[in-house]
Amino acid sequence: MILKQPQFQAYTGIHIAGTQGKRFDIEITNGRFTAVAEVGPHPEQAEGSRQQQLWISPGILDLHTHLAWTDFDHDDQLRRDPREIEVMQAEAFAATLRTGVTTARDAGGILPATIRHLVKYYQQPLRVETSSEMLGASDAKGVKHLENRLMEIYATGAGWVKIMATGGLGAPTEKVTEPNFSGEEFAFIVRHAHANGKKVLVHTWGGVTIDWSIQAGVESIEHGMFMTWDQAGRLAESGVAYVPTTSIYRIAADPKGVLALSPLICERAARAADAHAIALGYAREAGVRLGFGTDYATPALHGYNLQEFDTLLDYGLSRAEVWRSATEDAAAILGSGHELGRIAEGYLADAVIYAADPYQAKNADQLRTSIVTVITGAQEEDLL
Ligand SMILES: [Zn+2]
Repeated sequence: MILKQPQFQAYTGIHIAGTQGKRFDIEITNGRFTAVAEVGPHPEQAEGSRQQQLWISPGILDLHTHLAWTDFDHDDQLRRDPREIEVMQAEAFAATLRTGVTTARDAGGILPATIRHLVKYYQQPLRVETSSEMLGASDAKGVKHLENRLMEIYATGAGWVKIMATGGLGAPTEKVTEPNFSGEEFAFIVRHAHANGKKVLVHTWGGVTIDWSIQAGVESIEHGMFMTWDQAGRLAESGVAYVPTTSIYRIAADPKGVLALSPLICERAARAADAHAIALGYAREAGVRLGFGTDYATPALHGYNLQEFDTLLDYGLSRAEVWRSATEDAAAILGSGHELGRIAEGYLADAVIYAADPYQAKNADQLRTSIVTVITGAQEEDLL
């Protein structure tokens, strides 16, 4: 169930996910937490009591989605009827919300006008930040061309600029870390975006574009599976965040998985996944700020965002680290750490209520099915 901007909602003796052995009385007024108070043990909820216990966590922030995309191959989307695409996009919003994701940063493909339409006419109160159209290899035509492209992106109302700095699954493994832009072009994009009040996220599998991202001071790098130990150290020092998007490569590597890709792409994805486990270990040890992101982009994946938790745990992160990357730290990466990502007085009441302790969930499926209610605190006009 989605509970939109509740005027008043109270929970008595609820657990806050990750805070062991304590219970809280929580009140929400006009979509914000107005009281979060620790309470003593409830005698009626002593051991053996049959009364249902509830847990609350902040709404999850997915920093790397593609909500406008309906197919793995963009040519397949172009063959669809525009009305069909719109309905599929609305379902992507609905599925994302149902799984507890209340904020998404779209990493390319959705325009602010589409977000407004889906929030207003389809009544899907998902908070979406976007980069509109990405800058990629076909834009490496000098700074004059890039300036025109950047002005087009700003004109859509996007708050982010997405740079495809290297190839991805479409590129042969030995070439995948080669830069798509010259160093001069890359630095120009970041400088221009920042001068115009835009934030920058950089798709890079590794190589010199990680160094360029650190030098230019972008907000986050994405994927980064071929990051070196040395780069992880400098990334941590610089404060540039890392959004690894690990689970998508494991899914892509599985020939029987929902993406069912060709053997060649599966093999590239498997190499990426192996490298990811190492890169994430480096990043964790170096103290890089990690952001939760899925890179989910098809109907078979939207709504299963919590699968990213399982992969991050498999790659050695603790429960607390995984949850922080999806709440507090993700909010900080968006520059919204003052009002999103925590259960605290004054914060927006973007939250998830569970019937079981989310920190004890065996896997993403169990976690997803334990969700009772998803609460979104924002007024509709604040999402438009
Ligand atoms: Zn992506």
